[in-house]
Amino acid sequence: GPRWSLKGMTALVTGGTRGIGHAVVEELASFGASVHTCSRNEAELSKCLKEWEAKGFVVSGSVCDASSRAHRERLVEEVASVFGGKLNILINNVGTNIRKPTIEFTPEEYSTLMTTNFESTFHLCQLAHPLLKASGIGSVVFISSVAGVVSIGSGSIYAATKAAINQLTKNLACEWAKDNIRTNCVAPWYTRTSLVENLIADNKFVEEIACKTPLERVAEAEEVSSLVAFLCLPAASYITGQTISVDGGMTVNAFQ
Ligand code: NDP
Repeated sequence: GPRWSLKGMTALVTGGTRGIGHAVVEELASFGASVHTCSRNEAELSKCLKEWEAKGFVVSGSVCDASSRAHRERLVEEVASVFGGKLNILINNVGTNIRKPTIEFTPEEYSTLMTTNFESTFHLCQLAHPLLKASGIGSVVFISSVAGVVSIGSGSIYAATKAAINQLTKNLACEWAKDNIRTNCVAPWYTRTSLVENLIADNKFVEEIACKTPLERVAEAEEVSSLVAFLCLPAASYITGQTISVDGGMTVNAFQ
């Protein structure tokens, strides 16, 4: 088939109504994939689905809280029914953060972050595996963070969940290669989305970010989704087990 197209492929993108997930839905759809997405807010999901239909994208959606085991099971059942028991692409994008000093985390906060960021991701991989295998050409992309690569002061639990995802990327690459499933991981630095809108509304904070970043700015969601789509293309067929930072050079910068 064509090396730079996703025509005829199917994809599940978790958390596609805003931010990076939203950009990923549009990027995959514009490469010709049929996409299913989810979010917790039904009204926002319906609005997005209408907009995508108007743009000519083939996108369906489910209301789903990815932190709930039962919701995840129902989501993958819906995906199996929409795509006939097969799935080419799984994008594990849902994630959240609570920023505070380590000694201040409550057990509930620990649990929220571990469940939303890691357990949901791990379990969705388990649930999607039979569908990915059945498709014959599978690709999983995790949306991690540079917080899982270096210490960026954004909270230790979030960082640990992202580092766990980075390692899962490597293990699944080795374990599922025999099923022709590649697994890769994208690690963004600050990206203009609703998750960090309050942080980057503060000019002083953005200046500090710019100082640490060779490209001297935060990312736009489309600068992350482009790599995600590339990793799913047939053109990336020999790339697996990698975590790639989309960070304006931040993680290679030891000066300032
Ligand atoms: P946003 O908060 O802007 O968007 C998150 C999307 O996921 C929304 O569509 C939201 O919809 C959905 N979502 C959130 N929680 C759940 C849930 N429990 N179940 C289902 N859907 C959910 O986040 P970003 O786009 O910024 O972040 C996406 C990923 O990128 C995360 O994993 C994050 O850690 C990572 N990242 C972000 C960075 C940034 O600077 N923005 C930097 C590095 C990594 P709804 O709330 O309606 O459910």
